[in-house]
Amino acid sequence: MSLSFLPEDMNWLCESCRQPLQPGPVELHYLGSVFTVELPVCPSCSRVLIMEELACGRMLEVEQLLEDK
Ligand SMILES: [Zn+2]
Repeated sequence: MSLSFLPEDMNWLCESCRQPLQPGPVELHYLGSVFTVELPVCPSCSRVLIMEELACGRMLEVEQLLEDK
């Protein structure tokens, strides 16, 4: 399963490096499953930006998908 968590504008900077974040695949562990999602990642320190509101909303969708099966 692949989800995209990328914001529409992608005008995000790493708080520590001041580098523009770039989309990259990140493994998320949730409810005993592993999802590969695209998230904004800092090319310098590999820090991943997870926008909590967005991630929570998407995770609820994922949860519902899992429950439907
Ligand atoms: Zn950084």
